Amino acid sequence: MLHDALDAQHRELLAQLGTLDQSLHDLRDARSGGDADDEHDPEGPTLSSEWSRMSGLDASFRGQVTATAAALERIAGGTYGTCSRCGRPIGFDRLEARPAADLCIDCARLTA
Ligand SMILES: [Zn+2]
Repeated sequence: MLHDALDAQHRELLAQLGTLDQSLHDLRDARSGGDADDEHDPEGPTLSSEWSRMSGLDASFRGQVTATAAALERIAGGTYGTCSRCGRPIGFDRLEARPAADLCIDCARLTA
């Protein structure tokens, strides 16, 4: 069932986000511990690039978690599988490929 798949995906994403948050936290500690600005700290650039890489990952995970949570809410509210823009059904193929999709393929193309 799609619901089970979404639920599993949501849990998985939350777990990954938790790990990532912990890493970001550690990294923040590492950065603030030195009290140095990156320009003069030999460790700085490494930490900086690692930080921006993980911040990017974190943002992308958050987006996915939000999308999956919204999809689960739509399932609960009975609106899952309906395009949030035009109100037409989202194709099953699309939902299977992207369970968290809230736009039909036509609307997704329009807003892309
Ligand atoms: Zn649509």
